[in-house]
Amino acid sequence: MRYRWLPHSGRRHAIPDELYPGDEGETLCGDPIVPPRNPWQGNNTWATCWECDRVWREREGLRPWPVTC
Ligand SMILES: [Zn+2]
Repeated sequence: MRYRWLPHSGRRHAIPDELYPGDEGETLCGDPIVPPRNPWQGNNTWATCWECDRVWREREGLRPWPVTC
């Protein structure tokens, strides 16, 4: 499965890439989301959701990012 990142409630979350604008789905961290049509408009500096990052790395078989907090 492929993913893409988009801003949602103050963080940059990952969602399945087949989730189209207007579809109901959820982020990798389990938040309900309906992707907007222009998610990055004015929103390109939001912080990463580390829970999405963790789940994404787990599913992709990547090593966890070394976060200390
Ligand atoms: Zn998230």
